[in-house]
Amino acid sequence: MRLLVVEDDAVLARRMREDLSRAGFAVDIAGDGVEGQYRGEVEPYDVVVLDLGLPRRSGLDVLRAWRAAGHRVPVLVLTARDAWHEKVEGFKAGADDYLGKPFHIEELLARVQALVRRASGVVPAALAAGGLALDEDRQRVSVAGGEPVELTATEFRLLRYFMLNPGKVLSKARLAEHIYEYDADPDSNVIEVHVNHLRRKIGRDRIETRRGQGYVFVGGG
Ligand code: CA
Repeated sequence: MRLLVVEDDAVLARRMREDLSRAGFAVDIAGDGVEGQYRGEVEPYDVVVLDLGLPRRSGLDVLRAWRAAGHRVPVLVLTARDAWHEKVEGFKAGADDYLGKPFHIEELLARVQALVRRASGVVPAALAAGGLALDEDRQRVSVAGGEPVELTATEFRLLRYFMLNPGKVLSKARLAEHIYEYDADPDSNVIEVHVNHLRRKIGRDRIETRRGQGYVFVGGG
């Protein structure tokens, strides 16, 4: 899952990036409204965390512009504490959720994970598909009710993306876009290597290869 944080407080932005990366998200940061709006328009983010008080263009204007253009990425807005009018304005502009500053990172994480699942149409509980249960806090997977298996950071990102998109053909380029940051430059062969490692852990037949197209995670059953 790839996430954009639009926040001009550099210290807070860096802290969010560290914590969200540890939770298995690829995180890009934009420090003002103009850059944030642009990034959100050209990159395929799964979720955006948008501060409302931003230099150059306000978070509300950024959000309104995205929604006016039909851009439906889930957006969590960061508001000043107790500023109820900001929450109302945020929802009117098309926000999916909000969080008042200051916040605990655990709450941010829980809200971001809920938004990701809601957007994928997956019931917000533990992530389970294709006989696999993914433990997002510990980044490990149980296969058919067996003992949990540890995943590397990349395997975890990859498997979560597969499980949120069962039955869809996912190209290597699309997988790379959703599991790596903007400045990363992954080789598509690298994706193949990680997919093969993942198959050893969860069973070969759970991820099918479509020659020339990509992979399909076999969900259900
Ligand atoms: Ca701010």
